[in-house]
Amino acid sequence: MKALGRIWCMVAVVAVSSRADAAGFAMSDNFTILTPACPTQQDATAYAREVLESAEAWRSEIARHWLGEELPPGAGRTTVNVSFSDKQDTGLTWATDHPQRRDHTLYLTTTPDRALGTTLAHEMVHVVLATRFPSPRRLAAWLEEGIASSYDDGARQAARKQSLSWIARTGNWPDVEALLNSPNLNARDATAYATASSITEFLLTRGDRHTLLEFGQYAGEHGWDAALARYYRIPSTADLERSWQQWVRQSPTGPQNGHLRYSTTGPT
Ligand SMILES: [Zn+2]
Repeated sequence: MKALGRIWCMVAVVAVSSRADAAGFAMSDNFTILTPACPTQQDATAYAREVLESAEAWRSEIARHWLGEELPPGAGRTTVNVSFSDKQDTGLTWATDHPQRRDHTLYLTTTPDRALGTTLAHEMVHVVLATRFPSPRRLAAWLEEGIASSYDDGARQAARKQSLSWIARTGNWPDVEALLNSPNLNARDATAYATASSITEFLLTRGDRHTLLEFGQYAGEHGWDAALARYYRIPSTADLERSWQQWVRQSPTGPQNGHLRYSTTGPT
């Protein structure tokens, strides 16, 4: 049934109906799902329910994996807007940032499959982390992206690995301090994502996920140098930069970023 729904909506990418009444809608305590028109209302509803099912599964898996527990029902309610595109694969999470906004909003422009899989999973990391550490205690942009990027598909992870290999070979190292202090990462800046993802991976070789999140919280209040010294015994950002570069250079097959078990199209 799940597979059928997916196939029906794949058809919708090429034969898009603009009839508003055929758009998909599904809702739970945690999500409101809005999906594009499919050839029939039944197909659209079936697809919206698939997205809802995947969103619930990712929310649960990511919270358990990173926070060690589920989020309470209804915490971090999110509206998910899906648009279909076979040329674009983008996601954006607008997390609640003031008391008047009660829901997070998530936008996906991608294939019907990726809206159930890796693209949804990446954005769901932002939702889960922004719910646990809400504004103004939100984790730094590079750290959230570093964690979220580990859920990206195999092609993206391979491109980042290639980018880091090139950086290591040519010595075109990015400015780590600037990245750590950057309020957001430009979605088109592949080097920033590769670096964020690699530094996250590097820190995870020196401590567990819980330590990484505590480090991120502590840094928000006390700065990177103090947080690095306290949680990783790395005296300063400059020392992090040196140790990370050495780690990237020494990796025999190039840096491993991400856990590739997430490169499937659905929660595992
Ligand atoms: Zn992201």
